Amino acid sequence: MRCAMIGIVVGVTGSMWFGGLAIAVSVDEECATTSTIETDRADRCTGDCPGKGVCDCPDTRDLWDVGEQAQNPTDITIRVKINVLDQEVVDHLNADQIILGQVSVIWDHFYDWNIDLDVSWEKFNDPDPDYSVVYNNADVSNMKSAYADNPSEQLNIYVTDIQIDEDDNGIPDYLGRATFAWDDNATGTQGGIIIDGGAFGEHKTTLTHEIGHVFALWHTHHGATLIELDFHGGGCGSDIAEEVICPCVCYEPAGAATPGRDILGDFCSDTPSTPPNHECAAPGGQEPCEPWENWGMTWYDNFLGYASDVDIPPCRDAFSNQQGRRMHCWACNALTGWMVGESLGACCLPDDSCMDTAQSCCDNAAGAFIGAQTSCTPKGTCCMGDGGCDDEGDVAEVCCLEGGGAFLGPEGYCEPGEEHACCVVDEFGRGQCVDTTEQCCQAWEGLYNPNKTCATMWPPRCPDKYK
Ligand SMILES: [Zn+2]
Repeated sequence: MRCAMIGIVVGVTGSMWFGGLAIAVSVDEECATTSTIETDRADRCTGDCPGKGVCDCPDTRDLWDVGEQAQNPTDITIRVKINVLDQEVVDHLNADQIILGQVSVIWDHFYDWNIDLDVSWEKFNDPDPDYSVVYNNADVSNMKSAYADNPSEQLNIYVTDIQIDEDDNGIPDYLGRATFAWDDNATGTQGGIIIDGGAFGEHKTTLTHEIGHVFALWHTHHGATLIELDFHGGGCGSDIAEEVICPCVCYEPAGAATPGRDILGDFCSDTPSTPPNHECAAPGGQEPCEPWENWGMTWYDNFLGYASDVDIPPCRDAFSNQQGRRMHCWACNALTGWMVGESLGACCLPDDSCMDTAQSCCDNAAGAFIGAQTSCTPKGTCCMGDGGCDDEGDVAEVCCLEGGGAFLGPEGYCEPGEEHACCVVDEFGRGQCVDTTEQCCQAWEGLYNPNKTCATMWPPRCPDKYK
C-alpha cells in the first residue's frame, strides 16, 4: 500500500530523539512505516501494519491474565528511580509533598494492573552539571549521561524544566517523553523518562502516561496521526505534526465495530480510534479518511490520550484491559532487568512459543517456567510429545523436552514418512503408544512397529517396561 504523503521528522541528536521538527511532506513515496519499523518478529501475526515484537500479536498479549478481572494474577514489581533536577521543585517549600503526591498517583494507577512500582527518588540541590532546565535534545542526552542511575536495573525518571522549542514558536514542545520497551536504549543510559516539573506532582497524570509508553503503550490516537505512524512516540502534550495520512497500513478507522483494530493503530481494539483530543469529552466530528465515520464515543479519559490535568480529580483515569495485558507482555519480554525479586529463565507459553522472562510473568501467562538461568536458546526441530514433528526451527529445546518431545537440534529436520505405532516408556515405567515417524520413534528410543498404528495395537498395547 502506498501513502499519499509521508512526514519526515528530524532528530537533533540523531539517535533516539525524533523530536520536534516536522518537515514537509513528499508525495507518493512508499509509506514510511514499512521501511522504518522493523518487521522481522511480529509481522507473522500483525498483518500489514508491522509490529515491534511478539507482544504486538494479540494472541500472545492476551496470554497475560492481569487486572481486576483476572483469576489469580501475580504482581510484578518494577524498580523506579526519580531524579529531581528542576530547582523549582527541589527548592519548593513542599518539595517532598510534591514528590510523594506524584509517587502515590503512579503507585495507585499501576497497582490496579498488578504492577507494583518500587520507587526511590533523589533531589539534586544545585546540580552540577546543572540540568534544572533543558533547552534542546542535546541537553537531554547529556543530562541522562550525567545522571542515569543504574539504568539496567531501574526505570530512570528525570524531572526537569523542559524548555525545548524546536519549532521556535515560543511554546515548549512537550511535557514529557519516554523510551519504549522495544527501543535498544530502553534499559541503557539514554532510556527512561523526562518530565516537566510543572506536570509533576499530586493529581498529575502525565507521568502515568509516560510510564505507559515505557511499557509499550501507544497513544490512543496513534492510528490517526502521521507522526505517530512513522516514528516513536513523538512528543506528548504538544500538537506538533499531528497530521493525517490517508490511506496508511496502520490507519485505525473510527468506530468500535471495525474489525482488525487489534493490529492497527495502538494495537488495542478496546481503545476506540480517536484524533488527538485535549478535552475531557468525546471529540465530535468525523474521521479524516475513508470511510469517514463519526468518531463517536471515544475513550477520552484513557491515560494514553491527551486530556489535560486541569481538573481535580484529573480527567485521565484508566487503562484498558488490553493495555494492561500489553504492558505486562512487553515488560515481561523486554524489561525484566528492572523487576524485583524474580528468577529469570525460560518460559514455555501455551501457544508453544518460548520467552526468556521472569517467573511471575510466566505464571501470569499460564506458562511453564523451566527454572532460573535456563534459556529459550537453542531452538530447532522437535519431535513433539504428541507424535508430530516440527521443523520450523523455532521450538526451544527446553520446551520441546518439557512437552515430552525429543529435540533434534538447530540443524535437525523432519524426515518424511508414514506415522506408525511407537512404544515409549513414560515416567512411571509404563509403555505408551504414540503414532509417529520412525525417525521420531528412534529419537525417543522407542520400539517402532511399522505394520501397526496405535489403534490396531490393541490387544495387546505397548508392554510395560518393554526394554
Ligand atoms: Zn505520550
